[in-house]
Amino acid sequence: MPNNAHQELLQKYAEAIVKIGLNLQKGQRLIITNATARGVPHAGRALVHAVTRAAYAAGAKYVEAIWGDEEMHRIRLQHAPADSFDEYPKFQVSGVMEMIQNGDALLSVYANDPDAYAGLDSERVAAMQKSHLQNYAPVSAAISRNAVNWCVVASASPAWAAKIFPDLPAQEAEERLWRAIFETTRATQPDPIAAWQAHIQSLIKRAQYMQAKKYTALHYKAPGTDFTLGLPQGHRWIAARMPAENGIDFTANMPTEEIFTLPDRHRADGTVSATFPLSYGGNLIEDFSVTFKDGQIVKVSAKKNEALLQKLIETDEGSKRLGEVALVPASSPIAQRGHLFYNTLFDENASCHLAIGRAYRFTLTGGEELTDEEFTAAGGNVSLSHVDFMIGSPHMDIDGITADGKREPVMRQGEWAFDV
Ligand code: ZN
Ligand code: ZN
Repeated sequence: MPNNAHQELLQKYAEAIVKIGLNLQKGQRLIITNATARGVPHAGRALVHAVTRAAYAAGAKYVEAIWGDEEMHRIRLQHAPADSFDEYPKFQVSGVMEMIQNGDALLSVYANDPDAYAGLDSERVAAMQKSHLQNYAPVSAAISRNAVNWCVVASASPAWAAKIFPDLPAQEAEERLWRAIFETTRATQPDPIAAWQAHIQSLIKRAQYMQAKKYTALHYKAPGTDFTLGLPQGHRWIAARMPAENGIDFTANMPTEEIFTLPDRHRADGTVSATFPLSYGGNLIEDFSVTFKDGQIVKVSAKKNEALLQKLIETDEGSKRLGEVALVPASSPIAQRGHLFYNTLFDENASCHLAIGRAYRFTLTGGEELTDEEFTAAGGNVSLSHVDFMIGSPHMDIDGITADGKREPVMRQGEWAFDV
């Protein structure tokens, strides 16, 4: 879509990514990639180029992009030998790790096909996924302790646009998706940088309120949901802005509407129903619910792709437990768009959510310094996977439970029940 208005918005978006998301420093290097497709799909080229321009304008010393090709993975899934899915290009991991160890900023650009692996053998898809997660673990671990300033953003892609707007002609669908990306990332505002700064401040105030409360648990009530989730001692509510180990403050997701913290891996009880489908491994898991006892998933059920959901929770010991709890009002600008994005970056910002799997070390005070054993003993969760699923709706009430057992409203009918 090479018209001027689009180019201008793309450049404003790229600038916000560099200045707010990454907060890229003069003299810093930048690596651009995509974990899921093992490199940015080609549909993301225009955004990658715009970011590269904005990065050099901000004083970057060097920008590198790793390109991914979903069709290559698809061909492999169809034609490679069944016992070959342990094969992995380890140089890709060492390449990224080398840049992280050098203190370079890391940008992940989603431009994927949400149905990239639809219709393929789910055993094979799961085997490829698992081998990827295992091999990519050093990068995931570095990211989850904020080793460097990093950010996840999205570019429209034809396949993604067609998924969201199946009834529109291809070009119109892509334009609509770009419009949605630009609006939800504030690129359409007169001063996107100032708009982001104000938004970040308001999220931080919500997080500070929840932090001061030191709730020991949250109780969720909604149709299909009656669920109590423990919050461990030392949990930290995080919003929008974090310091990286290289000393740079950054905003990890654009858009972002959530405040989130660490759930206790040992204390989750009851059933929680998803309110959005979950796009996982190129497939959609739909109409599902998850039942917990003592922090562990004891039952899953799904109207569609239940086997894939079962596979997901069987990735390892930690994938049967939770690693993130996030609050998002049902009136969030992303929810108001009234359609699914089939992508976690957007859909998680439309709804309260939980993540199955790995917890972020920084959501526990002092968590970065703990061994895996110490971290899990403190309530943190360790896993190869981290998969968000959406549970919020305008019908959800959430109470905070204080240390002395009192209940206080946190959300009512999907909206914040407190002022800041
Ligand atoms: Zn989240
Ligand atoms: Zn998450």
